[in-house]
Amino acid sequence: MSFLIGPMQKHLNGHKELTAHNEILELPVQEKVYIPLAMGNAKIDVLVKENDHVKVGTQVAARNDHFYVPIFASVSGKVLGIEKRMGSNLRPCDHLVIENDGKMEKEEGLSTLSLDADGESIIAFMKEKGLVGCGGAGFPTYVKYQTDKCETLIINAVECEPYITADAQTIEHHLDDFRRGVIAMFKASKAKKCLVGIKETKKELIPKLVELFKDQNTIEVTPVKDVYPMGWERTLLYELVHKRYDKLPIEVGCIVSNATTAIRLGIAMETGMPIVDKIVTVSGDAIKDPHNVHCPVGTPFSVLIESCGGYTKDVIELVAGGPMMGGSVTKDEVCVGLATNAITVLEHKDIQSIGCLRCGQCVDHCPSGLQPVNITNAFKANDIDRLEKLRPMDCIECGMCTYICPSKIEVTENVRKAKRMMALRTKK
Ligand code: SF4
Ligand code: SF4
Repeated sequence: MSFLIGPMQKHLNGHKELTAHNEILELPVQEKVYIPLAMGNAKIDVLVKENDHVKVGTQVAARNDHFYVPIFASVSGKVLGIEKRMGSNLRPCDHLVIENDGKMEKEEGLSTLSLDADGESIIAFMKEKGLVGCGGAGFPTYVKYQTDKCETLIINAVECEPYITADAQTIEHHLDDFRRGVIAMFKASKAKKCLVGIKETKKELIPKLVELFKDQNTIEVTPVKDVYPMGWERTLLYELVHKRYDKLPIEVGCIVSNATTAIRLGIAMETGMPIVDKIVTVSGDAIKDPHNVHCPVGTPFSVLIESCGGYTKDVIELVAGGPMMGGSVTKDEVCVGLATNAITVLEHKDIQSIGCLRCGQCVDHCPSGLQPVNITNAFKANDIDRLEKLRPMDCIECGMCTYICPSKIEVTENVRKAKRMMALRTKK
């Protein structure tokens, strides 16, 4: 079960001002895109071959295991083949290389959907368009909606990670799509009410959203505190409906979808276009000119970084995502995928840790109610029995324990290693 038992949250310096009010940069046409053909360990069927001509929105591949997720071309041009490149999970994985002809010709006859469609048709449409969670998880959206048990739909517009403003800017630029997507998700969920969670500090956006849904008396815009990790679905759900769950929100009658995912549904319904482009926050203290950048899926990080003026430090840390929950990547050849929402570039600092002070701060602030310090100790002692009791697998890798630790210990990394140790043991 979940042990979410206290506030376990903290206001962080968001550094959002670096990008929040800048215009969204449009990338000049790139010669090639590299569409990631990886979704965890799932099997991907490639549906095109070398020299095939594709258009924006042509289906090029599909995940085809227990979930079905089609993958689409993000530019028009010629398929050059498949290339192994570093993925955001730090493992080499296949990418479909498309030579961009610069015409951005769109696939003809893409199906659209009216808001009059029934719930089942909306769910089928989510599946057909390959809609996945855009909040970083990349989970197929239609799967969540295949239920009759949803009482409350929660739309997560919180975006609590420092630096990231992609969701907020995407909403600002796609208010009509957001409205369409939220209403469609609400219908598909068969819920009785819908809560749109947004940070109370978004003073300009909140009235726009209230206006947007003013004729929908079962959709409510609900401001929440500006604390981390309010955007984590467990924390947000507890804040909004005061319930705790073990594995999935549906156990307590809820579905949680990210705001940008709703927008992508709204766009697909209107234009037929699946997720072929992204707005990505490129920010941090070691990037020259932070911005949100609009780019085709499959654009290398290096191109986005260059469009923002490049690195300002010789030694940097590159993170796919935000600085708290994102994953460090060692190469900027990694490409924008369906769930990429941010690239964070930070100055590398040689931080000397000192011994644990037994201050308990990591325990007080863990949103999963864990004891990171004790997990660290059990991991170092190779004490599997103790680790089992300490539940490291419930860690969401939010980074809070490292952030808060006065001794500068990489507590999150230790918990991550403990998780790996437990996972290996389970496999045996
Ligand atoms: S990284 Fe894991 S252990 Fe550390 S505070 Fe977050 S959830 Fe807790
Ligand atoms: S926050 Fe750091 S110093 Fe304090 S108990 Fe946790 S690991 Fe030890």
